Amino acid sequence: MKIILNNTSLFESLRPFNDLGFVPTMGGIHKGHLSLINKSNKICKKTVVSIFVNPKQFNNKKDLKSYPRNIKKDLKILKKCKKVDFVYLPKFNDIYKDKKKSKITLPKKDKILCAKFRKGHFEGVLDVMNKLTKIINPQKIFMGEKDFQQLYLVKKKLERIFKTKVIPCKTIRDKNNVALSSRNLLLNKSNLVIAAKIYKKLIGIKKNIQNKKNIPNFLNYQKKELKNNYKIKIDYLELRNINNLKISCTNKNSRLFIAYYLNNVRLIDNL
Ligand code: AMP
Repeated sequence: MKIILNNTSLFESLRPFNDLGFVPTMGGIHKGHLSLINKSNKICKKTVVSIFVNPKQFNNKKDLKSYPRNIKKDLKILKKCKKVDFVYLPKFNDIYKDKKKSKITLPKKDKILCAKFRKGHFEGVLDVMNKLTKIINPQKIFMGEKDFQQLYLVKKKLERIFKTKVIPCKTIRDKNNVALSSRNLLLNKSNLVIAAKIYKKLIGIKKNIQNKKNIPNFLNYQKKELKNNYKIKIDYLELRNINNLKISCTNKNSRLFIAYYLNNVRLIDNL
């Protein structure tokens, strides 16, 4: 596993390879990330993992400051899994040396779910993914369904511009079904117990949706229940079609999307 600290070294190291799998991360490596790496390792000749906490996708300074960082531990895990060929650890200037302001904007129809509640977040994500793809030029990029809207928007944008294919990967959960996330490191045991209860409740809600006439009304009611029962703040609880992310009135081809705050930590999931 080669550790790459700047773009010159990156270009030199990757030049000989034309079957690269790329797994972009912000570190805090967990089994969710490793499942993406496994998939890349199976399908592609070489796997590149990047660790870069992209400041431009944080709409909240406190969130950026508290985002879990532990490069030493991350590198140890990545080395141990024996499936990573290159780890790219860019500095801010490696990505943003071109000082021109990015022109990325989201169309109105995409300003839903997290885009509605985290202003500028996806513009930052799309910008950094655009830049990373240009720099790395991978054949395939592996991304998690856990961040479904991110996967949807990045796939739509990158596959229009580059030859790169964006490959969706299933959400990996802990033994209590809580979706793994680097942000879980900011939760204590009792927070995680609540997150597991919320997951269970969401499964019940999704099952019950089937026979509801007015789904948005039903979900509004469930949102209030969840808020009251678990003392959480909820940004959204919505059933949406997986192909176009439009509000859905059937379980078919749909997922239930939630974003909520537990102990001031923003968690998202979809099922
Ligand atoms: P992050 O480091 O949180 O930016 O995530 C990097 C990549 O890992 C993204 O494509 C995420 O969707 C994916 N990912 C994060 N958590 C999980 C998970 N629990 N299961 C599968 N993929 C995940």
